[in-house]
Amino acid sequence: MDYLQAQDVRFSYDQEENGMIEVLKGVTLGIQKGDFVALLGHNGSGKSTLAKHFNALLLPNGGKVYVDGLDTIDESLRFAIRKQVGLVLQNPDNQLVASIVEEDIAFGPENLGVPPAEIRQRVDAALKSVDMYEYREHAPHKLSGGQKQRIAIAGIIAMQPSTIVLDEPTAMLDPRGRQEVMETVIKLNREKGITVVLITHYMDEAVAANRVIVMDKGSILIDGTPQEVFSQVELLKEHDLDVPQSTELIYRLRERGCHRLPDGMITEEACIAALELLLKEKS
Ligand code: ADP
Repeated sequence: MDYLQAQDVRFSYDQEENGMIEVLKGVTLGIQKGDFVALLGHNGSGKSTLAKHFNALLLPNGGKVYVDGLDTIDESLRFAIRKQVGLVLQNPDNQLVASIVEEDIAFGPENLGVPPAEIRQRVDAALKSVDMYEYREHAPHKLSGGQKQRIAIAGIIAMQPSTIVLDEPTAMLDPRGRQEVMETVIKLNREKGITVVLITHYMDEAVAANRVIVMDKGSILIDGTPQEVFSQVELLKEHDLDVPQSTELIYRLRERGCHRLPDGMITEEACIAALELLLKEKS
């Protein structure tokens, strides 16, 4: 069984002015433990709504969601589910609760009833895992955006979840902060085996995932490896969706007749290598 499972999930919001609006229209997908999934799609396509189903913050109106086999609709399992799946949101300022970094990180484990000696260990380990240990006695509000977001992530990590769901965690950060957060997320996935579901608008972030799921109007449009998904440039463009810059460059060169260049280039390195080969052949 997949670790996170959505089976024909339907969900509607009651929007006073518009009545009931169906936002998830029968979503079925399975995510395995240790996966790094990027969730892409336009604003309003249902990404956040789906993500909130994975820690039982929202419950399906139709279909089922399972976390490690636990049915999210079962109230008696909710605590166990929330312990396993941590949610990181866009704005770090809304997620930081204490005036000292280490107190902030301790907040989650304290709420879980973890014994004090173990809390100390967890706080230190979590801060080290996001490379913020030396800031443990600092005031969170004085940190940069990227550092604050890493503290927010450490706060989740201290609860020892097996999955973190991040809803546009870099949207409010400058390029340096974005890079810091992405390096942290990649490290947590690769070195600690934490399952990652990352909602993002940045294609270069999606390329770091091992699976990309594109949502469109409450349904899954494409699901595959970054290479498979970004090879479908026409389909993505039909839906006004972006592709990584390297993919775009090769796509346009192919449109102009450079058919020797292979489809589905997703990284700058691969793009450079392909162009280099072509130039050498011509010279
Ligand atoms: P995405 O994350 O892809 O931008 P969302 O899941 O946030 O999409 O939103 C999907 C749709 O649901 C949008 O049309 C949005 O306006 C609507 N929506 C989201 N949250 C609420 C809410 N709390 N109440 C009513 N409608 C909502």
